[in-house]
Amino acid sequence: MTCKDCDKNIGYVQHKESMDSLGVELCERHTRLIKKIILNNNTPLEAIQLFYALKEAGANPMLEWWDGKKSVDVAISRVKLNINIDRDYKMITHEQAIKDLEEAMHSFKDGFTTIKIPHLAVKYYIEETVQNILGIISGLKANIKVV
Ligand SMILES: [Zn+2]
Repeated sequence: MTCKDCDKNIGYVQHKESMDSLGVELCERHTRLIKKIILNNNTPLEAIQLFYALKEAGANPMLEWWDGKKSVDVAISRVKLNINIDRDYKMITHEQAIKDLEEAMHSFKDGFTTIKIPHLAVKYYIEETVQNILGIISGLKANIKVV
């Protein structure tokens, strides 16, 4: 068993502790660091799981990336892709709906592509979610080359 962040060997107790609390295999130091990020940013657990799955897939993701105005759950900076985990999309209000659209407009203007991923997709279909994001990344890369 190894830490998904630093490849350090971890024992059974640490493995269980990190899996139970974060759902990702991490060493003591990285479990502590990630918990601090969650505490500071109210980061959803699914963002942590998606971050490490994308890291494993070689996508070079960044966790809680500050885009100048707000913190993005997971970002792929080289293609300017921002990924936010949607936790309560069922209870969207009309104010939230128009705020979301305005945010989307601003990020497009700044050259960013922002996608929202329902937390359930990460929870139940992590492989498919990663594959789809990799597809979006290669699509964005192709577009950047054209421009
Ligand atoms: Zn580690």
